[in-house]
Amino acid sequence: MLESGKFPSTGGPAIFEDFAQIGGDCFRSGLISSHAGNISLRSGDSLIITRHGAMLGRLCPEDLVEVLLDEEQDASGASCELPTHRAVYARTPARTILHTHPPHGIVLSLLGSRIVPLDAEGCHLVGEVPVVSAASAVGSLEMADLIAEALQDYRLCMLRGHGLFVRGETLEEAFCLTTAFEASARVSYLARLAGISVHSGECAAGPPRPSDERLPRPSEDRLPRPPADGSPAAAAPHNPETPA
Ligand SMILES: [Zn+2]
Repeated sequence: MLESGKFPSTGGPAIFEDFAQIGGDCFRSGLISSHAGNISLRSGDSLIITRHGAMLGRLCPEDLVEVLLDEEQDASGASCELPTHRAVYARTPARTILHTHPPHGIVLSLLGSRIVPLDAEGCHLVGEVPVVSAASAVGSLEMADLIAEALQDYRLCMLRGHGLFVRGETLEEAFCLTTAFEASARVSYLARLAGISVHSGECAAGPPRPSDERLPRPSEDRLPRPPADGSPAAAAPHNPETPA
């Protein structure tokens, strides 16, 4: 195990840059308050996670710590949500986990046991999100077990009254799902305020799709690639499955 403040031996600076960029994006997007949220990445037999109390919007290298996946000790000042991150990595194929406090999603989590999007992007990218409830909703083994169980079947899970846990292949993918979820939750919240009546539990924009087909590929794969002869790249074909 590395000491707090030291880079992991594999790809340290690049990992820090990813954490800092996504952490800053989460704060500027209003998904977390100054010292809330946490980020982790699976790295072999270890995981790299943000320090307890770190400001995700102003991360420095000392805010990343590396701990073993299968130990139970309180390690190096890691986030208090370390038990949940460990449980999710143990029971799912997650490579990254992003935990935020999206305000509209938290409001909706107080209203039922699942959140179903009404809008097209939410239906396409996010789908139904389960809501789990724990007697102790911060750093408890109970919430770790409930969230890990839910994330075996879903990419996203809301902890009632607390926040969102998302598993992804990359931090960018987890951030994409997080922002799409909160944007969709805001639509649902506003629809309720406007008195719009929709059938409970149904996506107003169409039926949900299988989760693994919703996600965009990493950004570099979405960009048109120039031909090998150096001539201008052709425009990328429009994917009719991708919402505007
Ligand atoms: Zn939290």
